[in-house]
Amino acid sequence: MSLVAETAALLTRLGVPAALMQGGQRAATSPITGETIADVHDTSAEGVDQVLNAAHQAYLAWRAVPAPRRGELVRLLGEELRAAKADLGLLVTIEAGKTLSEGLGEVQEMIDICDYAVGLSRQLFGLTLATERADHRMMETWHPLGVVAVISAFNFPVAVWSWNAAIALVCGDPVVWKPSEKTPLTALATQAIFERASVRFGDAPANLSTVVLGGRDVGEALVRSPLARLVSATGSTAMGRSVGPIVAARFGRSLLELGGNNATIVAPSADLDLTLRGVAFAAMGTAGQRCTSLRRLLVHRSVYDAFLPRLKAAYASVKIGDPRAADTLVGPLIDASSLDAMERALAGARDQGGSVCGGQRVVGPGQGVYVRPAIAEMPSQSDIVLRETFAPILYVLSYDELDEAIAINNAAPQGLSSSIFTNDVREAERFCSATGSDCGIANVNIGPSGAEIGGAFGGEKETGGGREAGSDSWKAYMRRATNTVNYGSSLPLAQGVKFDI
Ligand code: NAD
Repeated sequence: MSLVAETAALLTRLGVPAALMQGGQRAATSPITGETIADVHDTSAEGVDQVLNAAHQAYLAWRAVPAPRRGELVRLLGEELRAAKADLGLLVTIEAGKTLSEGLGEVQEMIDICDYAVGLSRQLFGLTLATERADHRMMETWHPLGVVAVISAFNFPVAVWSWNAAIALVCGDPVVWKPSEKTPLTALATQAIFERASVRFGDAPANLSTVVLGGRDVGEALVRSPLARLVSATGSTAMGRSVGPIVAARFGRSLLELGGNNATIVAPSADLDLTLRGVAFAAMGTAGQRCTSLRRLLVHRSVYDAFLPRLKAAYASVKIGDPRAADTLVGPLIDASSLDAMERALAGARDQGGSVCGGQRVVGPGQGVYVRPAIAEMPSQSDIVLRETFAPILYVLSYDELDEAIAINNAAPQGLSSSIFTNDVREAERFCSATGSDCGIANVNIGPSGAEIGGAFGGEKETGGGREAGSDSWKAYMRRATNTVNYGSSLPLAQGVKFDI
């Protein structure tokens, strides 16, 4: 079956109305072959306004529904996702180019966050605080915030929505989602799945979840609207640099999940077999197109010559090709512009004294852009190493002292993820401590990529500072009220202030 026919059949099974995939002005393409697989309709500026107003109406109703009942909608969403996992996972693979195992893993992540959010719907608790005034009670309560605008990147075309939507919905907030212009079909399919859950729920207000399609202009229309009380934006640091100030200027709230430039330290005591597997997945998985992809490998000089040849052999042998094939480990780049960026970065690495192996274009199906992942051994952490190139390039540097490796790790302008391979407990603890890695994620004996939903996900510095998914990330989706209640018959003022009339 052709890719176009396979996609059409999948979308029909997933419940996407045919009219949404035909006759639109924007071509949806698959990186597997580079061909157009559907034509979708961009949302107009007026359309975005209408959607936001409708979502605000949904908020006015949804905020009054008890949180555990809101959790029931998310429980049903998780059930619908389980039923659709095989189809949606394959659609992720077709539209984003990640291997089928990773496409299915992405849908599993959606299911996991639904389960998490259902539990959370009974745990949106505040504190009771000590008050200095007799016969008073002071407490915190958490309330729904308003419409959450979600802007997402191509490389996690559906999981990012679910991290936001599952939490936002139990917190009492409707979601308006602008997916990447490179991955509209998975968004339409996710919306169809949500609508099935909503019908089963019965009395959910209309427009709790809506998709708007388009490019940067549609994203900007969301970002500028005061109705979008929280803008949760995932993408490049350049995007965040535009979005952050616009939201701040209207005193809105933003949650920014931006670029990473993640490092792993290979210490003298590292288990090199474990390290090899961890590094291979983190650097080559998703063809180097994860925000948490490993981009800088810092290898202790004492193990450099033992480790690098093994790593290069793994790079030379990894199977590249159609991501639907069971033995493929590296699928295509999203498009030709990624290959241009990769080639420019490798030229820059050579100019800056690097020695490169890999990086050649590989023949794949159709016009898909396939490339052998590259290793660039660098004499120092030069400009090119400090830049995030969203492609499978691993810069390798050597180091002598742990302090030096930590300083190299922390010298990147981004601060998303990091890890160390070591069997030395002192090194491991130091890496995770206040004087260790400055990233939002610091791992030991695993790579920097492949986070679970239970932890708060996000990073520091140019990664934007946002946190989503687990832990107490839900607090970004609610407004906090501090309530002081006087149950006595006098009116003592705080700090002993007198005002007797
Ligand atoms: P991108 O910045 O090009 O686009 C991301 C989204 O932002 C798209 O939906 C796009 O239309 C929208 N957008 C772009 N400019 C905008 C603007 N000025 N105003 C409003 N919306 C705008 O990113 P991409 O190429 O799709 O994804 C790759 C990047 O995303 C990498 O830098 C990667 O590290 C990052 N990323 C970060 C995380 C994270 O959690 N930190 C996760 C995934 C991807």
